[in-house]
Amino acid sequence: MAGKVLHAGTLFLFLSLVMTGCAGVTPLSHNVVVKRAQMHMGTLVTITAVASDLEAGHKAIQAGFNEIKRLERLLSTWIPESELSQVNAESGRRPVTVSRETLDLVAQSMEIARLTEGGFNIAVGPAVDAWSITEQQRIPSDEELQRLKVLVDVAAIQIDMTGQTIFLPHKGMKIDVGGIGKGYTADRAAEEMKKAGAQGGVVALSGDIKTFGALPDAAGFPVGIKHPRKEGAVIAVIDLQNEAISTAGDYERFFERDGVRYHHILDPQTLRPARSCQSVTVIGKEGVLVDGLDTGIFVLGPERGMALIERLAGVEAVIINDQGTMILSSGLRSRLRAP
Ligand code: ADP
Ligand code: MG
Repeated sequence: MAGKVLHAGTLFLFLSLVMTGCAGVTPLSHNVVVKRAQMHMGTLVTITAVASDLEAGHKAIQAGFNEIKRLERLLSTWIPESELSQVNAESGRRPVTVSRETLDLVAQSMEIARLTEGGFNIAVGPAVDAWSITEQQRIPSDEELQRLKVLVDVAAIQIDMTGQTIFLPHKGMKIDVGGIGKGYTADRAAEEMKKAGAQGGVVALSGDIKTFGALPDAAGFPVGIKHPRKEGAVIAVIDLQNEAISTAGDYERFFERDGVRYHHILDPQTLRPARSCQSVTVIGKEGVLVDGLDTGIFVLGPERGMALIERLAGVEAVIINDQGTMILSSGLRSRLRAP
C-alpha cells in the first residue's frame, strides 16, 4: 500500500498519559496493557491491547498483526501477487476475481468518492506513480499529466458485487488504496483483537488509528494531533472512545523544489498536489471512513470539506488550512484539549 516512509499525522499518546490516568476515575479493573510494534504496509504499526493478563494481551496483539499481514497480501500494490496488483495488471484486458474484503474496500472507496465530489479517487494510481513523491521525486510535465487523465477516471471502474470481480477497462489504469487502506485495515485488526479476547485496544498504522474500549481506569485513549509545520509538536489532544482517527497532511511525504512543496495527495482534477490544506484530521466510528474522508477532504478544501463533515452524522474534523489556521467541526469544540 502507500509509500515506504514513516509518517504519522496522529499519535497515540499512551506513554505520556497512561502514567497519570484520568483524575476522578476510580480504579475498576486489574487489566494489563501490552504494546508491540512491527513494520507492515510500509509503515510502523503499533498495537496496544488491554486484557485480563499478559498472555491474553499478547494473543490479541498477535491476532491483530496476523490480520494486517493477511490484508496486506490482498491489498498492497507493492506486492505483485496481491489481488489489487492483479486487478491492475489485467487493466484493459479482463475482470479479476477478488475476495470480499477487496471488493468491500473498493466499493466503500467509490462511496467516499461520491461524498467528496471526486476529491477522493482510488484511480489516481498512474498519477501517483508519475510523481513518485518518495522515490524519484519528479515533476511531470503538463502533457504527461494530460495523457494520464483518461486513466484516472474513477467512474470507469467496474465492480461486480455478485460475480465478485473488478475490471479496469483502460490499459494502464491502476487502483491505489493508499488513501484508505490503512484505516480499513485498522478496523479489521481491531475486530480480530476483540475476537481474541481483548477488552480494549489501539491499532495504529502510522497516523491511522482505531480504538476500542479504554485504558485501565480511563475514559478512552488519548491521541495527539500533530502540528503540520513544527516537527514533533502536538497541537491538540482528544480522548477517543470506540472511535477511529486519521490525518492526511502535506508534511507526511513531500519534496521541495525551488521553494515549492510537492506532496503525496493529488487533486484528481489537476493531477497535481492539492493546495488548500496543510492537514485534515477526521474522527468517527470507522477507520475506513475517516481515512477515506481525510484524503478526499484535503482535496475538497476547508469550506466544502467542513460542510460535508457537518452534514455527516458521527464524524468530526480538524482542518488546518493553507494559512495554518485551525478549523474545528461543531462536535469537537468541547472535546479537544491542549497538549
Ligand atoms: P497516509 O496516511 O499514508 O499519508 P493518506 O490518507 O494521507 O495516507 O492518503 C495519501 C495516499 O493516498 C497517497 O500516498 C496516494 O497513495 C493516495 N492518494 C493521493 N491522492 C489521492 C486522492 N485524491 N484520492 C485517493 N487517494 C489518493
Ligand atoms: Mg486517507
